[in-house]
Amino acid sequence: MPQDIQKLIRDVPDFPKPGIMFKDITPLLVDGQAFHRAIDLMAEHYKKHKIDQVVCVEARGFILGAPLAYRLGAGIVPVRKPGKLPHETIQATYALEYGTDTLEIHKDAIPAGGRVLIADDVLATGGTVGGVLKLIEQLQGKVVGIAFLIELGFLKGREKIKGHDIFSLIRY
Ligand code: AMP
Repeated sequence: MPQDIQKLIRDVPDFPKPGIMFKDITPLLVDGQAFHRAIDLMAEHYKKHKIDQVVCVEARGFILGAPLAYRLGAGIVPVRKPGKLPHETIQATYALEYGTDTLEIHKDAIPAGGRVLIADDVLATGGTVGGVLKLIEQLQGKVVGIAFLIELGFLKGREKIKGHDIFSLIRY
């Protein structure tokens, strides 16, 4: 039940900065049964979509995206902070609440036309996933869906990534 999973998401006020209510997923990760159930529920939504790769966003996206990919029989493509990937990369810069940030992907990570699912822990303003969409577009991958464990609906991130199949297990 998503409600049982939601009980394992801990609110941490003023982290990492004053005014942010951080959604801490570590109490969920530590509970084997609940974590298993959360991944199964996310995978369920995409199991008929034929996914070639799950594009996982550093760092908590790796934790969720890897078991999701395994469940869907898909590969994994990491999207990382600058300077972490060893081979040739392309970059996308995207807007944050204050300032900008950059993400990288290997140039040859997605075969053209590859059917990908993007995975991350939280959809907040949608800036991060907007950057990931730019990267996949440049590599001519086809975004089949975007999966989040948590969506902060009041931040309206969904509006930034309109036109995609967006799934979130828990909404605030
Ligand atoms: P955004 O680009 O605003 O959609 O923010 C999404 C990224 O920031 C995700 O990768 C999340 O891991 C992280 N994030 C943003 N807001 C929160 C929050 N309230 N709690 C936990 N993580 C967050």
